[in-house]
Amino acid sequence: MPAAELTLDVEVCSECGLCVAVCGYDALVLRPTILEIIHSECVLCDACVVACPTEALRIE
Ligand code: SF4
Ligand code: SF4
Repeated sequence: MPAAELTLDVEVCSECGLCVAVCGYDALVLRPTILEIIHSECVLCDACVVACPTEALRIE
């Protein structure tokens, strides 16, 4: 079974930036057209998942 990782549903992400603001590990970067996840920095703390108003982020 592969290790868990943070995933983004680009269809529902509104690019609001709230997840970037709550991430304390610089693992999220808002690019002009997409939210980029820096998996090597993500510690799977769940803060962004909880903060996202559209449920675009999941740890699975
Ligand atoms: S908080 Fe959710 S909707 Fe907002 S930029 Fe992050 S993933 Fe997208
Ligand atoms: S799970 Fe935690 S460390 Fe990973 S991107 Fe979200 S807020 Fe940052």
